[in-house]
Amino acid sequence: MNEGYPVATDLGITTCEICGLVLASAPAGGRWRCPRCRHELHARKPHSVQRTAAWLATAAVLYLPANLLPVMTTNSVLGSESHTIVGGIIELWATGSRELALIVFIASIAVPVLKIAALALLAITAHRRSLWRQRERAGLYRLVETVGHWSMLDVFVVVLLVGMVHFGVLASVEPEAGLLAFGAVVVATMLASASFDPRLIWPPTRSAAKPATHG
Ligand SMILES: [Zn+2]
Repeated sequence: MNEGYPVATDLGITTCEICGLVLASAPAGGRWRCPRCRHELHARKPHSVQRTAAWLATAAVLYLPANLLPVMTTNSVLGSESHTIVGGIIELWATGSRELALIVFIASIAVPVLKIAALALLAITAHRRSLWRQRERAGLYRLVETVGHWSMLDVFVVVLLVGMVHFGVLASVEPEAGLLAFGAVVVATMLASASFDPRLIWPPTRSAAKPATHG
């Protein structure tokens, strides 16, 4: 297990994430603070898998209104029209803005769905204390973190569009409820990612996790 690399909990130690102090592991239960910097110490983020799962469920539920409700309404002399994310992508593609259509597709459909799926996989395997493809799972977590920096890209695209269309004569773009739901999906996914403790990919060895009672 752990390919011969012991983790801190195997050795019965905990390190302070803030000041780096090394301490003997905390007694089970109760709050424990670093004696040097007073940072609350945890061998692992508390309730990491449960909190990740809860934020993922929130993101998945909000993903429905984000896609079903219009994200914006365009007003022009020809009348007003509401657009959903998918409708907007199809329209952008049809009107020749294929690059923009691709950016919106990647930012608002591909990335959120893949991010939720990746975090769900990480949470499920961590919950099962799986030893399956640990290095690849760590890589997947790093990928989710990297992509996360671009999470609000889609919201920026719509904001940009709002600004661009305002230059048009007698035309305007209003953000709609779907955009709010989409922003909430992004925030919930970011919180899911922040709640996940990647150290759970490497569960403590069984002997350390359950101390032997017989000698
Ligand atoms: Zn400390």
